[in-house]
Order: sequence, then structure tokens, then C-alpha cells
Amino acid sequence: MDVYITFSDQLAEESSDMASLFHSEEPVYEEVRRLNSEKGDHLENDQEKSANLIPSSFDPVQAIIQGFKYFKQNEFDPNRPFYDELAKGQEPKFLVFACSDSRVSPSIILNFKPGEAFMVRNIANLVPVFDQLKYSGTGAAIEYAISVLKIPNILVIGHSSCGGIKRLMSYPEDDSAPCDFIDEWVKIGLPAKEKVKANSGNCSFYEQCEQCEKEAVKLSLTNLLTYPYVRKAIANNALKLMGGYYDFVDGTFEVVLFETHFSPPIPAI
Ligand SMILES: [Zn+2]
Repeated sequence: MDVYITFSDQLAEESSDMASLFHSEEPVYEEVRRLNSEKGDHLENDQEKSANLIPSSFDPVQAIIQGFKYFKQNEFDPNRPFYDELAKGQEPKFLVFACSDSRVSPSIILNFKPGEAFMVRNIANLVPVFDQLKYSGTGAAIEYAISVLKIPNILVIGHSSCGGIKRLMSYPEDDSAPCDFIDEWVKIGLPAKEKVKANSGNCSFYEQCEQCEKEAVKLSLTNLLTYPYVRKAIANNALKLMGGYYDFVDGTFEVVLFETHFSPPIPAI
């Protein structure tokens, strides 16, 4: 099902009608009706069905429009020379790995401006070991960031109360049903879990999760070394790796410096 949406200043100012923003709203509502009927919904008419499916208290399209209007009026238009320059190309200073958690946006907590940070966000901010058969999305981002953009710093940010780490620490011991994707993904952090279980098995589950949130950052930094572009850039003193931990309960941020030392190349005999 394709959904097309357009936005312009004129549309935003003139229209608050969600349907008018869709080029092809019919397929959307047809799909909604089909799903509705499959669920055995017996509402009398389409209007009631739509009202039932779209919460009246929150209009997502208006939220998008108002959000972009705010950005355009308060950030983009007043800083036009900056954005004109940025349009020519990007030279980010950081490749950032952060969790998908809606509370930990690096642009907010570290005040990154557009063009400063190339981002990868996933469950539990994990970096897998180099593997061309799995996790190609992560590998592609690393390859592009380091080989093409020559980004000089990689920052992996862990955070408090991470749901992904909690799942890693609790499954399968809690006998819960397996997830389709999450379990396989968070298993990247198994070495961190095993380290925490070995060293802090007597601590509370909450404390173990907190320790694993930090150990998983160190593990991801170590895993980054399995990517040949990363190793090459570090060997050329063109790349630094660092970790961070954002505690959104206390409002604190810790920086983890990650030292990497490679011996000089061994001369051929
Ligand atoms: Zn998280």
C-alpha cells in the first residue's frame, strides 16, 4: 500500500483537513476498512469506523505540520546561510550509535546541530560484529560513515532503563514467549550479559541491567574493531572511538574513553 503525502507552507496554513493532504487517501481508507472488516467490526458506517480508528485527541498529521512549521520558522529560515552551505554536502564530526528509545535522541541530549552527527539508532544501541550475511544495515552505515564520509569520531551511547537490555538480561530465563526479531537482535549483547552475570550475579536485576547497559557499550566499541575500515582509520590516527551513558532519571551523562593501540605493522621478512 503506497501512501503519498505532500507538504507546503500554503497547505499547512490553509488546511487542517488530514484527508486533503493525501494524494491518494482512498487506498489508505480502503485498507483500514478491509482490516476493520477482517476484525469483525460491526460499526454502522465508514465515518464511525474512521472515528473509531483515529484517536480524536491526537492528530499525527497536524503534529508533523506544526513540528515542521516550528523548525522552518525558528531554525531554517533565520539560519538560511548555514542551511545553504549544508546543502552542498555533509562533514559530520561524529558517527553516533544510540537506542531507538524516544527519550534519548542524541540531537537533543548532546545538542547536535544538523550536519554534525551521522546517526544509527537501533534497539539497545548495539553494534554487531562484522558480518556481511546479517545486520547489513548497520554495516552499510559504518562503511559509508568511515570509508566515504571519513568521520573522525564514533560515539556509542547507552542509557538508563533500556528496554532492549532488559530483554537481553531476562530472556529466556523468564520463560516468556520469543519475539520475532528482538531476541535475535539483542543477542548481540550476550557477551556483556555473561560478564555481568559472572561478576554481579548477586546484585538485583535492576542493578544488573544498569551494569549491562554500560557493558554493552564497551562490547559495541570492541565490535567496531572487527570492521576493516574502522581498524584502518584508527591505525592512521584518523578515528577515535568513545562511549557514553545517558541516565535520564538523574539527568547525567558519562563519557567512556576507549583506548585503542595497534602495534606498528610487522615488516615482511
Ligand atoms: Zn534503549
